[in-house]
Amino acid sequence: MRVGIGYDSHRFADGRKLILGGVEIPHRQGLAGHSDADAVAHALTDALLGAAGLGDIGRLFPNTDPRWSNADSLQLLNQAFLKVVEAGHQFVHADITIIAEHPTLGPHVDRMEEKLAEALLSAPAHVSVKAKTNEGMGWIGKGEGIAVIAVAVLG
Ligand code: MG
Repeated sequence: MRVGIGYDSHRFADGRKLILGGVEIPHRQGLAGHSDADAVAHALTDALLGAAGLGDIGRLFPNTDPRWSNADSLQLLNQAFLKVVEAGHQFVHADITIIAEHPTLGPHVDRMEEKLAEALLSAPAHVSVKAKTNEGMGWIGKGEGIAVIAVAVLG
């Protein structure tokens, strides 16, 4: 059994779609980033790579590479997952916490679980997504951006 942890944060920006866990969420701002800035997919990718000891998302998909400009992060997650499988590991479970003051993400977590599980060729029961606020504290509380923590278990 191997466990990996992933963390990601992105700043809110005007004129961008808000995409989290592969789901487009209605909001007045999106997240800044080279790809689609899906911080949930990025944190989960890092958790999987960490569990397998295969580095991190920046090493696999450098943000200096134009191929990943506006990339669909679910596809990056899927590609990282396939590398993990190639290395001889089996995906068991992932647990994710999104920390965002706005928008309210609760209504979207089931769909995120479905989309993330799909990228891992797995069932939604093996992916858990939770959302919480930062109680108004600090940069997350002020709505400057969001953070995501993910844990992945491989067998
Ligand atoms: Mg990121």
